[in-house]
Amino acid sequence: MNADIRYSIVTPVYNEEAVIDQTYRRLKTVMDSTKESYELIFVNDGSCDHTTTMIKGFRDQDDAVKLITFSRNFGHQIAITAGMDYASGAAVVVIDADLQDPPELILEMIAKWKEGFDVVYAKRTKRKGETFFKKQTARLFYRILKASTDLEIPTDTGDFRLLDQRVCNELKRLPEKNRYVRGLVSWVGFRQTALEYERDERLAGETKYPLKKMIKLSLDGLTSFSFKPIKMANYAGGVLIFCGLISLASMLLLKLSTAAMIAGWKLVMAMQLVLTGMLLTMMGIIGEYIGRIYDEARDRPLYIVSECYGMKKKERKVKHVS
Ligand code: UDP
Ligand code: MG
Repeated sequence: MNADIRYSIVTPVYNEEAVIDQTYRRLKTVMDSTKESYELIFVNDGSCDHTTTMIKGFRDQDDAVKLITFSRNFGHQIAITAGMDYASGAAVVVIDADLQDPPELILEMIAKWKEGFDVVYAKRTKRKGETFFKKQTARLFYRILKASTDLEIPTDTGDFRLLDQRVCNELKRLPEKNRYVRGLVSWVGFRQTALEYERDERLAGETKYPLKKMIKLSLDGLTSFSFKPIKMANYAGGVLIFCGLISLASMLLLKLSTAAMIAGWKLVMAMQLVLTGMLLTMMGIIGEYIGRIYDEARDRPLYIVSECYGMKKKERKVKHVS
């Protein structure tokens, strides 16, 4: 570890040529104002536009800039994990490249860190410039996650946060592949505190988080920290069996006590449909967990670095307990 560096700023970038110049400038202005040493680590998550060349350009002028390039797109959560793995600062800040999160807030985070907090996360009080659909689904997701786990995972909080190096060191010991980093940070513990802020619009370019990636992230969050979905399928199955037994019993009673004919096919059809639906849902939920178990069992590396600029390539060392 390079003891000289005080702050590491980790920024995942995926096709961000439209904003990266401004992001770099704003981060630099903010970090220069600290009068302390820092590094700006850009994790290039397989961009296929000019992002890489532009960052290399910054690097040519500025030694603080470092670049890790993935061999392909591994996803935002993996990119920030790699950034934390490579960060050598005493405090590590994760911030998106699109300036939705104001870099100026980093100064307040640093102040909190200096007060003795190990994790300072930024809680969104408002989200500007995002679609109604995105805001509402995100809101709903955070609420469902909160209700389904005993772990205190703060709501309306993304990955914009400051972490003490010792928190990063603990995160390095968590080998899981389907990572929901903000949940892992809560799981690790230590002294955590929040700062509130209003999330701005993306400065330029468009979101790199389409619905598909959002669904994957929320499933990772839910399955990593809760067994409730699997349990809910069990409860629902139980309720259905109970309903089935009651209706069967009532039909039997009717048959025994009256001479009425039971036109049961409608009921049977309806029950059949519900039951099949439930079975499919249950299988789907179990599938989500099994898929993840399979991922862990394969034990592939989290990411592949194709080149490093300004820093040495290294292996992600994970302690395995066997
Ligand atoms: N990002 C990434 N890999 C991806 C998708 C996104 O590294 O596969 C980066 C992106 O460049 C940005 C951050 O993750 O710095 C958040 O993405 P974005 O702002 O598009 O997400 P949103 O704010 O719309 O949820
Ligand atoms: Mg964004």
